[in-house]
Amino acid sequence: MNTARTNLLNFDAAKMAEYVAGLNEKPFRAKQLMQWVHQRGISDVALMTDLAKSFRTTLAEDAEVVSLPVIQDHWADDGTRKWLLDVGAGNAVEMVYIPEDDRGTLCVSSQAGCAVNCRFCSTGHQGFARNLTPAEIIGQLWFAEHHLRQDPNAIRRLDEDCATQQSGRVISNVVMMGMGEPLLNYESVLIALRLMLDDHAYGLSRRRVTVSTSGVVPMMDRLAQDCPVALAVSLHAPNDTLRNELVPLNQKYQLKELIAACDRYLPFAPRDFITFEYCMLDGVNDQDQHAKELIRLLKGLHCKLNLIPFNPFPESGLKRSPPARVKEFAQILQDAQIVTTVRKTRGDDIAAACGQLAGDVIDRTNRNQRQERAMRSEHVVQWQER
Ligand code: SAH
Ligand code: SF4
Repeated sequence: MNTARTNLLNFDAAKMAEYVAGLNEKPFRAKQLMQWVHQRGISDVALMTDLAKSFRTTLAEDAEVVSLPVIQDHWADDGTRKWLLDVGAGNAVEMVYIPEDDRGTLCVSSQAGCAVNCRFCSTGHQGFARNLTPAEIIGQLWFAEHHLRQDPNAIRRLDEDCATQQSGRVISNVVMMGMGEPLLNYESVLIALRLMLDDHAYGLSRRRVTVSTSGVVPMMDRLAQDCPVALAVSLHAPNDTLRNELVPLNQKYQLKELIAACDRYLPFAPRDFITFEYCMLDGVNDQDQHAKELIRLLKGLHCKLNLIPFNPFPESGLKRSPPARVKEFAQILQDAQIVTTVRKTRGDDIAAACGQLAGDVIDRTNRNQRQERAMRSEHVVQWQER
């Protein structure tokens, strides 16, 4: 048996061209292959009928198209769908699909676990296991898109006017807001992003692909050059003292540097603003004084602020800010002309939150407690704001 097959999902256009050239095939074969794999979702080379038979024979021996195996598949009443994917060694990552009237958004993971270890994040609490390969990242979109296309229920849930319906696609937006810090797995994420945008693959608009980062400053600069997609920055605190504690990466890249990096990114960004995410933690970062500090911090920067209801988990020792507090906090910012939205919760009957379900699976010790917790808690999924 050939144990070292080439997974075609690992290749962006340039790498696919190299691969095809290595097999002495003409360059246009690379484009054909990408269309078969990414646009039509075909993994069996025997079905790629416009490729020469000899080429198909070579591919059948050398290549494969394999995404991460699905361990669990949950469907919430509101149509939110969540898959748990096996990355080996007892670890799992998740992806979430969120259908809305005018779009279908997939939330994708970039790492198994995360080394940044934010205090409010259950992925961070699990520690870092490993980086995902390009195939494992783009494979999430590949699987979800083609799986959902064949699912009449998924299609039916989309509005007739939905942009995705018109294009024959189910997924119109991708957010890198699942598990992991995308900019700490830069090379693999870059290949996956290029495939998301490539017209021979998914052809998504740059505006509809969002990288969310806790603030890896040098990599934000590289992304601006290499593949400037929409950028979301996880802020969570208006000053360095508090942010050092909530997002430990801040000890390396302080707020002044982070805001300057956002400023440098803007001329390359497909939208004329940066989105800041701010997880509302009761009594920690949700006071009037924090809102006022935020106003000073963000002064002069084209941005939108997205307030996220905290999705609680026991080990964090933190609580979600009451809705009235979130409203007051948002009002202070809006009064200062900062566009502020409050993220709605979705997928309430599944554990659709950053790291939540994967965390539950890893903790195999107490199944009943885990199931009880999943039933009990309210959940937030990450998705692109309007
Ligand atoms: N590592 C990247 C992307 C993945 S996290 C980042 O931090 O931006 C995606 C978003 O989920 C981030 O804004 C993160 O702060 C938020 N998040 C993490 N844990 C959360 C929780 N328990 N409740 C609500 N939002 C959370
Ligand atoms: Fe990592 Fe993002 Fe979670 Fe922080 S919030 S631990 S950066 S996944």
